[in-house]
Amino acid sequence: MNILACVDRLERERDLSDAEFAALIKCEDPEALEYLFARARAVRDAQYGRKVYIRGLIEYSNYCKNDCLYCGIRRSNRGAERYRLSEGQILDCCRAGYALGFRTFVLQGGEDPYFTDERAVSIVSAIRREFPDCAITLSMGERGRESFQRLFDAGANRYLLRHETADCAHYAQLHPAELTLAHRVQCLRDLKSIGYQTGTGMMVGSPFQTADCLVRDLRFIQELQPQMVGIGPFIPHHDTPFARYPAGTARQTLTLLAMLRLMLPCALLPATTALGTIDGDGREKGMNAGCNVVMPNLSPRDCRSKYLLYDNKIATGDEAAESLNSLKKRMERAGYEIVTDRGDYRDA
Ligand code: SAH
Repeated sequence: MNILACVDRLERERDLSDAEFAALIKCEDPEALEYLFARARAVRDAQYGRKVYIRGLIEYSNYCKNDCLYCGIRRSNRGAERYRLSEGQILDCCRAGYALGFRTFVLQGGEDPYFTDERAVSIVSAIRREFPDCAITLSMGERGRESFQRLFDAGANRYLLRHETADCAHYAQLHPAELTLAHRVQCLRDLKSIGYQTGTGMMVGSPFQTADCLVRDLRFIQELQPQMVGIGPFIPHHDTPFARYPAGTARQTLTLLAMLRLMLPCALLPATTALGTIDGDGREKGMNAGCNVVMPNLSPRDCRSKYLLYDNKIATGDEAAESLNSLKKRMERAGYEIVTDRGDYRDA
């Protein structure tokens, strides 16, 4: 199969056959990959230029009622020291972030039943009142449609909910029986129809994942047409059933990011912390494969070292200002400019 021709056609038609998708996913030829990354950069540059949007990540709780086999904050991990931020602490994170130039706040946490609709709505409303010019992104896991609607009405604009894998059998290998792909997908459809800018995505190299699983992920993303796609390598956490499985690779993550850029030219694609964790230059490499978003951490420092989804997570010890400064420098060296901008989805 001619990989370069596949790259060109993916750029032109935003689509390939399953066999061609799989061939690209498995490709390890450095020259072909360099071509793929160059085309992804060109498409990103045409759409967004060299601007990098920043999202301030606030990890508001590591309590979780779920027991996902890959995740370090799963409920059966007795080793995780649990915490949750108060509304006041969350607002303080937003204030610090605003002063640093953040205009998007991402509230991410485990599925913590403490955050009832009433409490979550109160937090979103308070952020909306104090920061009318900022985007509010939620990443709180699965909730009912009614609940998503109430949060939207309170002022939330975006929602991140990775589908994790679009293959039912694979989904069941990564999650306990009470969690289903069908429900996850239902949530995503609800979010989109309510009017959220919606993000989905998957881990790359999760246990039992095959190239076929990844092809299904791409098909699902094509069909959903999300505004954002978050993908990063799977990284084992020592206190989970997957402790001894190998991590996903930077190469395969970058390949998928670049393919996604060609498939969804307008998408907001973050170079994730997980990518920066398995490869010291992972986030710069992500930019060079077509990404346009980074998500620095705004959580209080003592919480950051407790929100451990996987081992060796980077920048757990920095203050928000320090880590933003070092990221700015790194991005500038790589030819990118971090901007103070909400960075909303832009249709072609
Ligand atoms: N509870 C929320 C937020 C989950 S944490 C939700 O359900 O959406 C955000 C993402 O981290 C998850 O969607 C998952 O894809 C990723 N993640 C969890 N454990 C991981 C691991 N061991 N390695 C890499 N990524 C992981």
